[in-house]
Amino acid sequence: MRVARGLIRLAMEIARNAHPREFLGFLREKDGVVKEIQIIPGTVTTGSSAFFRSIMKPIDFHIVGSIHSHPSGSVEPSPEDLITFSRTGKLHIIVAYPYCEDCWAAYDREGRPVQVELVD
Ligand SMILES: [Zn+2]
Repeated sequence: MRVARGLIRLAMEIARNAHPREFLGFLREKDGVVKEIQIIPGTVTTGSSAFFRSIMKPIDFHIVGSIHSHPSGSVEPSPEDLITFSRTGKLHIIVAYPYCEDCWAAYDREGRPVQVELVD
């Protein structure tokens, strides 16, 4: 998967602003590159990861997966995350506190780590 470098930077900024709460968004692909985050209104939550459960993927074929933050500092998906991953697409990014350039990880539908290619 190809992901725009700017998307990661943007995600870190959103995560910093939301901290100590989590934010959740969908990843949108354009011209073969994942370059947009669609923030889901009302999903910035109080730090519990239960918020994912009721979220349904919208009907938008450009959406390829999800992105959310972990104020805890762990980039490991929670059991709830794995349920969401299986329902919402093929690429899932977790950005973790302190939201540094490398403070993120990408997973596939089954929660296995995946390599992404960062493009400018
Ligand atoms: Zn999570």
